[in-house]
Amino acid sequence: MTRLILVLGDQLSDDLPALRAADPAADLVVMAEVMEEGTYVPHHPQKIALILAAMRKFARRLQERGFRVAYSRLDDPETGPSIGAELLRRAEETGAREVIATRPGDWRLIAALEALPLPVRFLPDDRFLCPAEEFARWAEGRKQLRMEWFYREMRRRTGLLMEGGEPAGGKWNFDAENRKPAAPDLLRPRPLRFEPDAEVRAVLDLVEARFPRHFGRLRPFHWPTDRAEALLALDHFIRESLPRFGDEQDAMLADDPFLSHALLSSSMNLGLLGPMEVCRRAETEWREGRAPLNAVEGFIRQILGWREYVRGIWALSGPDYMRSNGLGHSAALPPLYWGRPTQMACLSTAVAQTRDLAYAHHIQRLMVTGNFALLAGVDPAEVHEWYLSVYIDALEWVEAPNTIGMSQFADHGLLGSKPYVSSGAYIDRMSDYCRGCAYAVKDRTGPRACPFNLLYWHFLNRHRARFERNPRMVQMYRTWDRMEETHRTRVLTEAEAFLGRLHAGEPV
Ligand SMILES: Cc1cc2nc3c(=O)[nH]c(=O)nc-3n(C[C@H](O)[C@H](O)[C@H](O)COP(=O)(O)OP(=O)(O)OC[C@H]3O[C@@H](n4cnc5c(N)ncnc54)[C@H](O)[C@@H]3O)c2cc1C
Ligand code: SF4
Repeated sequence: MTRLILVLGDQLSDDLPALRAADPAADLVVMAEVMEEGTYVPHHPQKIALILAAMRKFARRLQERGFRVAYSRLDDPETGPSIGAELLRRAEETGAREVIATRPGDWRLIAALEALPLPVRFLPDDRFLCPAEEFARWAEGRKQLRMEWFYREMRRRTGLLMEGGEPAGGKWNFDAENRKPAAPDLLRPRPLRFEPDAEVRAVLDLVEARFPRHFGRLRPFHWPTDRAEALLALDHFIRESLPRFGDEQDAMLADDPFLSHALLSSSMNLGLLGPMEVCRRAETEWREGRAPLNAVEGFIRQILGWREYVRGIWALSGPDYMRSNGLGHSAALPPLYWGRPTQMACLSTAVAQTRDLAYAHHIQRLMVTGNFALLAGVDPAEVHEWYLSVYIDALEWVEAPNTIGMSQFADHGLLGSKPYVSSGAYIDRMSDYCRGCAYAVKDRTGPRACPFNLLYWHFLNRHRARFERNPRMVQMYRTWDRMEETHRTRVLTEAEAFLGRLHAGEPV
């Protein structure tokens, strides 16, 4: 009896559990490009194009490996509107009575598959280094889930950067040597760019025709769309940029959107690269003396630590996590996030890059767009929808904990011990944005005062009951309390006026 083997757009791995469970002679692999997946949020056109192009190439790879593949194209009038509709159509065509699926990383899709009038057997997604049950065991009984402790466990368990049971270099974390500002450098290596082949070009035309109103530029498109390209991108990053990764990890430059970042998240999230192969490649560079430990440890921590940790939080927390709103924020997302011009150079730069590239690096996402939304009291569900829409690597399991937990502190402190908020001083220290800004980062009040300076204190003041006893925030409240009362009143009044203009949709 034929079974249907479901392969989703982010499950493009040769060793996918559902493919390992398949009998190529008897079973039918189902892959489907459907409108619902392209529109449940307004995904960036480059993100849709990447997923469709990578699916088409992966389907061919499966056929070459001897699988029978039923592939439904978006432009085929027979194609149904959703994954569920396509599975039912294929079941009717073949008489199949069971679906085998690798558990999706999206609660919406899990619920849709569970609701089908066709049994779906979910296999755990073992492409992650920490299985969901193990994460749940680690989390059990802990009051707070801190990434740092989880990361140390993962180092011990995998042996990555370990020497005789101790962390390489005698420390778990070399961040004290990282987090430097960066200067423009014309010789800084650029990420590898892949010119679209005929197959990718056809997908770009299709996306242009079908999703004309989604925010974001479709072209130029340079993302890796199959494993061979992803391996080239990995090689290039390891050789050219990894040695500077630590130093430049938190820096921001208006004219250099990539600095020494890897641009590998989309390849890893779609399954074209495995997290362990990426970490091992980086470790080898250090062991063979080609990259310093601060860079390699910092890079491995992002994957072995953060990436696995947010996966664990997502699996543990269930679908309600997406509705968390621990600080009770309810403002609408300001139109500047969708490209309405703003005089704030930092936001204008980060949003323009996002529009053009479907990419912004971590500190732009956390300390510019995320910081501002949090300070401005935006509803975390709207912030979540924006991040899920606009980035090339955005999938619910990784985007939601980063946005709702890390960036918006909406999960009641499950993921982070304090909110990531800052005044303009942090952005000024880590970037060159403020030099070209209509606002003055040094002004704490007045007509040109940097909005981050006003909103930072407004945020702390309005959430005083929640944060003033947080040991990591006591000092901030002391500083606020030491200011002259008249100054504090002026800051709050100007912040209110700014928020009034922002939320009324006036230009800021
Ligand atoms: C508000 C917010 C939303 C985010 N949304 C996403 C998302 O939808 N998808 C996504 O993959 N990452 C997300 N991140 C994490 C991080 O910003 C991206 O992984 C990173 O910018 C991808 O670019 P890169 O490959 O150049 O990463 P690098 O900076 O070069 O890092 C190397 C790798 O580490 C991993 N990594 C780094 N930080 C994180 C993190 N916090 N969580 C998980 N993995 C991490 C990624 O796989 C990345 O490719 C988000 C962060 C924030 C603050
Ligand atoms: S002055 Fe303020 S608003 Fe302008 S770029 Fe600097 S931090 Fe951003």
